[in-house]
Amino acid sequence: MLKYSPLSYMQGISFPAIADGHGAMQLALQYQLDASQWWSADQLLAKQFEQLRLLLLHANATVPYYQRLFAENEVQVPDRIDAKFFQTIPVSGRLAIQQAGQALDSTALPSAHGAKEYDTTSGSTGRPIRFARTSVTRTFWFAFALRDHFWHERHFAGKLSAIRWYPRGVAEPPLGAPEAHWGVIVAPLFATGPACSLNVAATLSEQLKWLRDEQPDYLVSFPSNLIALVRYASKMGVTLPALLEIRSIGESLSNTQRQQIESAWKTRVVDIYTCEEAGYLALQCPVSGDYHVQSENVILEIVDEQGAPCQPGKIGQVLITSLHNFATPLIRYELGDMAEFGDPCACGRGLPVIRRIHGRKRSRLQLPSGESLFPYLGEHEDIPQLTGVKMHQFQCVQHSVEEIELKLVLERPLNADEQAKVRALMQRNLGHPFRVRFSFPDNIARGPSGKYEEFLSLIS
Ligand SMILES: [Zn+2]
Repeated sequence: MLKYSPLSYMQGISFPAIADGHGAMQLALQYQLDASQWWSADQLLAKQFEQLRLLLLHANATVPYYQRLFAENEVQVPDRIDAKFFQTIPVSGRLAIQQAGQALDSTALPSAHGAKEYDTTSGSTGRPIRFARTSVTRTFWFAFALRDHFWHERHFAGKLSAIRWYPRGVAEPPLGAPEAHWGVIVAPLFATGPACSLNVAATLSEQLKWLRDEQPDYLVSFPSNLIALVRYASKMGVTLPALLEIRSIGESLSNTQRQQIESAWKTRVVDIYTCEEAGYLALQCPVSGDYHVQSENVILEIVDEQGAPCQPGKIGQVLITSLHNFATPLIRYELGDMAEFGDPCACGRGLPVIRRIHGRKRSRLQLPSGESLFPYLGEHEDIPQLTGVKMHQFQCVQHSVEEIELKLVLERPLNADEQAKVRALMQRNLGHPFRVRFSFPDNIARGPSGKYEEFLSLIS
């Protein structure tokens, strides 16, 4: 981190820099994160439990869902938390958290945590979860995003590009959206080069043309989109501009995908593991390539079907405890991903190692023209808002280039009128007049590999 010179905000002072309030807070956090990454696993755990105790006391005093959960299970927060006590706290599945609704809201958020801003996950199990962000959770989001830049020694003077999800009408091709700097996380602290974004709904040929025009140094996108782009470019015999690094976000990246992208584009791929409801979960180690849990932000457990901790090498369910969200606390919450711990890392960091993550996967939408698109599924609230029917789970399955099935877990099946409205919405979102049929199961299970896909293509 000390390789970078921060911007100074005081008149007449350039060195050493005096940052502004936000910058000073971020630099103060980085100073601590720089040290804590090298602590031993036991030291980290002790500090996590110290923070966890504050969260548990707060949840027990002000969050109806946890008041009830703790009372029913006779959980009493002790003066000192250890691993044995921690595992007596019941796991909260996604269904329970989804159903808790407003009972998950703290009735007395400390005012210093700032205003609440509600959001809904698009999630890896198709069960949208409503949660709040606060100034504190945003501050930590920024801090771990900065740590990722420092670990991978990115050159802020370079040009950053992103092909990601935006609502329709934003950052559309051919121009996308140009920006003067790298955005709210980096630019207030460091001088940066320009940035540019493109809506992932763009076709592969539009994306490729945009990349060749923009000539970025860095590219951020989803693994499913990157793979499709690599294949398309090689099929067309087109080479891509030289990139220093590609960052993959939002879906899980397999080793095969990583190798395909790296060998096609002759550049390294750096993956990050985040979730909307708790921010940064793990970052890729700059030395080994394994993932390090961001223990200063979350307690991440991997457990088997009986709820017992998995040893390194055994795949299990990911549970997270978000340490700083006092607005909608998530404690031993089943995220819906599967993962596997690894052995301690050769880099010397004490942050736990994850070797593999089996998270969200996404297929591409195939059109009759032979083109493929990143499926635009709209917002989770769209269907309930359109029909007035509460929705619990959602899955869109492509059976052929003409036919789509919508699997909806609803409080009641849709009538013909409502189906017609949702059909029109989906045809508009997917950008093609597909035949849309409906099914209304009681539950949508994970696939055979333990993964759940919000959009699933059955076309080989
Ligand atoms: Zn490492």
